[in-house]
Amino acid sequence: MTDERPLRTAEIIAVGSELLGSTRLDTNSLFLSERLAGLGIELRTKSVVGDDRAAIRTLFEHALARADVVILTGGLGPTDDDLTRDAVADALALPLEEDAAIVEMIERRFARRGLRMPAVNRKQALVLKGATVLTNPLGTAPGQFLEHLGRVVLLLPGPPRELQAMMDRVVAGPLGARAGHERLLRAVMFVTGRSESHVEELTQPLYSRWRDSEPRIDTTILAGPGHIELHLTMRSEDAERAGEALTQARDQLVAAVGPDVFSLDGRHMEQVVGDMLRERNLTIAVAESCTGGLLMSRLTDVPGSSAYVLGGAVAYSNHAKILLADISPDLLAEHGAVSEAVAVALAEGIRSKTGANIGVGVTGIAGPTGGTPTKPVGTVSIAVVDPNGTARVRTLLFPGGRAQVRFQATQAALDMVRRMVAAT
Ligand code: ATP
Ligand code: MG
Repeated sequence: MTDERPLRTAEIIAVGSELLGSTRLDTNSLFLSERLAGLGIELRTKSVVGDDRAAIRTLFEHALARADVVILTGGLGPTDDDLTRDAVADALALPLEEDAAIVEMIERRFARRGLRMPAVNRKQALVLKGATVLTNPLGTAPGQFLEHLGRVVLLLPGPPRELQAMMDRVVAGPLGARAGHERLLRAVMFVTGRSESHVEELTQPLYSRWRDSEPRIDTTILAGPGHIELHLTMRSEDAERAGEALTQARDQLVAAVGPDVFSLDGRHMEQVVGDMLRERNLTIAVAESCTGGLLMSRLTDVPGSSAYVLGGAVAYSNHAKILLADISPDLLAEHGAVSEAVAVALAEGIRSKTGANIGVGVTGIAGPTGGTPTKPVGTVSIAVVDPNGTARVRTLLFPGGRAQVRFQATQAALDMVRRMVAAT
């Protein structure tokens, strides 16, 4: 190693003409920025460039003049439009040398599938003079790790799975070793049922103090669909002490916000509810109207949900409510389809029809039409019947368009289940 100065800054260049079009997005840089942050390396700039040798070269030269680490992703394949190796070689005035071991590895990879290696694949064995080869067990394009005048140049393959596995090895290996001892630690909490500004009001008096504490903790509040996220980050060379400080800080925020906090580990609502149901051996069934199956879809998005989801019905029309959830026509006529009485009847009906421990009923007006002065668009009644047969019901008014109303209705329904199960 020529230079032991720790790496502090990075740039990412995503290579691929398809990433400039309207159908493909550069997602590799999202993953890479997370891993860089974990090493305490600050991502300064990222860019996307087409399969153009001169353009890649120019961009790379500018990046290398500014950042300690430059990561290029994509363009390591065997075809004519895979130009990353050549562009970097041009910029650094380094020769590309064929690596016999890589040729052999690619040949074996083809042979395993009973194929002969096409001649073009030899190109993937070209390595920048002085670079370390990063093998690619998931594909043919190897990566390259090069130390150049105290900086690091990293060439990674475009396919996300291949890139991620390779980056994790580089982080655990040569990149981590050069990154200095400071690490970025993060704690997250998800909150539902409160607005961003309300969460801010509750937490700001606490976290504003931590900005000036030693070590300092930064707090970010982000509004997501149906929930608010708080991210706490801290840089420290002592991961253990920092981890404790961060947990203490987070616990203070949890105490301030209370039971509206539903996740401390990045799990989303359907996962949190699913885990609670599984732990307690409870089953659930839902009868949903305005959410059109979205609630059931979210519940069953969770792998293993068959352990607690029995089934349900999309009871969209009045007739379907009568047929699928045993709602009485008189009840519908008396209260209207969007009412607390009907929400409770949906939950009770589906619970008794399926034999589930917990029944959920959702009925509302997703819009954009169908609102009335007393029941405007966004009005949703949600009922949850607990294992004892006791019903809880709420009517909420959600802002936004049809998709937002529907999603928030499922989030509120899941949250009612969460609170009910937590209390039993
Ligand atoms: P290969 O040997 O597979 O050709 P490569 O390094 O040449 O490897 P590309 O051809 O550039 O990679 O991309 C392969 C696939 O990976 C493409 O389907 C592309 O959509 C995807 N991909 C490439 N770059 C990115 C990126 N920055 N973010 C997300 N996906 C990407
Ligand atoms: Mg390619």
